[in-house]
Amino acid sequence: MDANHVSYILNELGEERENYFNAIAPPIIQTSNFSFKKVNDLRKALGDESSTFLYSRGLNPTVRILSQKLAALDGAEDCLAFNSGASAIFTAIFANIKSGDHIISVEKPYSWTQKMFNDILPRFNVTVTYVDGRDVDNFKNAIQPNTTLIYLETPNSWSFYLQDLKAVAQLAKEKNIITICDNSYCSPIYQRPIEYGIDMVLQSATKYIGGHSDVIAGVLCGSKIMIQKIFNSEYMNMGTGTTPFNAWLMIRGLRTLPLRLSQITATTEKVVKFLKAHEKVEEIVFPFDEDFPQYALAKKQMSGACGLFSFTIKSKSLKEAESFCESFRHILMAVSWGGHESLIIPGCASIGENEFDAENKDHRRMRMYVGLEEPEYLIKDLERGFERMNH
Ligand SMILES: *Cc1c(COP(=O)(O)O)cnc(C)c1O
Repeated sequence: MDANHVSYILNELGEERENYFNAIAPPIIQTSNFSFKKVNDLRKALGDESSTFLYSRGLNPTVRILSQKLAALDGAEDCLAFNSGASAIFTAIFANIKSGDHIISVEKPYSWTQKMFNDILPRFNVTVTYVDGRDVDNFKNAIQPNTTLIYLETPNSWSFYLQDLKAVAQLAKEKNIITICDNSYCSPIYQRPIEYGIDMVLQSATKYIGGHSDVIAGVLCGSKIMIQKIFNSEYMNMGTGTTPFNAWLMIRGLRTLPLRLSQITATTEKVVKFLKAHEKVEEIVFPFDEDFPQYALAKKQMSGACGLFSFTIKSKSLKEAESFCESFRHILMAVSWGGHESLIIPGCASIGENEFDAENKDHRRMRMYVGLEEPEYLIKDLERGFERMNH
């Protein structure tokens, strides 16, 4: 059977074309509610919103097409699509904790994840310990009697540090601890944490799933039991599901997901090679670079890496670092990534104007995202940056 084939998932799964004039593209079912002919049908729907179209804060047909595809891509039983990656993260964590619990998280998870851990959860008597996730023993040593959740993000979208998914999942299972992994960097095309025993996997669909820098969305996948429980509680209560129109944009994005990733992968390889050989580059951090300290683990658990990496330039002053970024004609200075357009964020944007320290690598670090442009076009733009940085 082709049921697990990526081509089947992206082109057919979940699409009931005979119900909408055999249209190839699914309709955007922009409705808040659904009607019933029989009292008994309404009664059943009121009793179980998770399997009947009743009200679009719950199930919606366009959103359901999307979530079936996303679950299958992750090799998960079920999935919920959210109106942001941040809301998928908040919901997944919130659904798995209660007052008095303890969480172990990788250090420096996504900024808003960290804010939730630091600012919101302490109000509910939930504590968090951050560990260097590169060594599985650090998780083991941080376990307390009240630890109920381990939170992972591999690779991390800034440090690119990895965690050994299989080893952490095994440790957590022995101790009855739930594992959640932010898989935004790889997307399910390049890494499928559930296959390594991770309980729940989430991603910002704003990145590769949407892929065109025009939608904010998130995905949460897991077992049928866990997802149903979240649907009937946090998801319905907070009302953070994605909208039919954004679901439609993501279905559209999914059609070309593997194609975009393979193009970005090929271009990233060339751009990384160019940067590595450049005299004004001190260091490059990219999981699929042979000199990356966790290269072996990256190769073991990821089938690809692309787009996002960082490099350190040999700028002697803030002005040089700024001139580098301000000289590009094509590469845009902006947050986010995963779209069609190449981007850069300089580390020096996160410090005060008088705080630049040339000794500090972080101040000279550039996080770059390679989009869908031709490699020569990007390399020429980078060359322009290096040429202008000393002027
Ligand atoms: C962007 C991002 C998020 C947040 O997703 P939004 O769609 O912006 O809410 C979470 N984790 C990682 C790793 C991200 O890059």
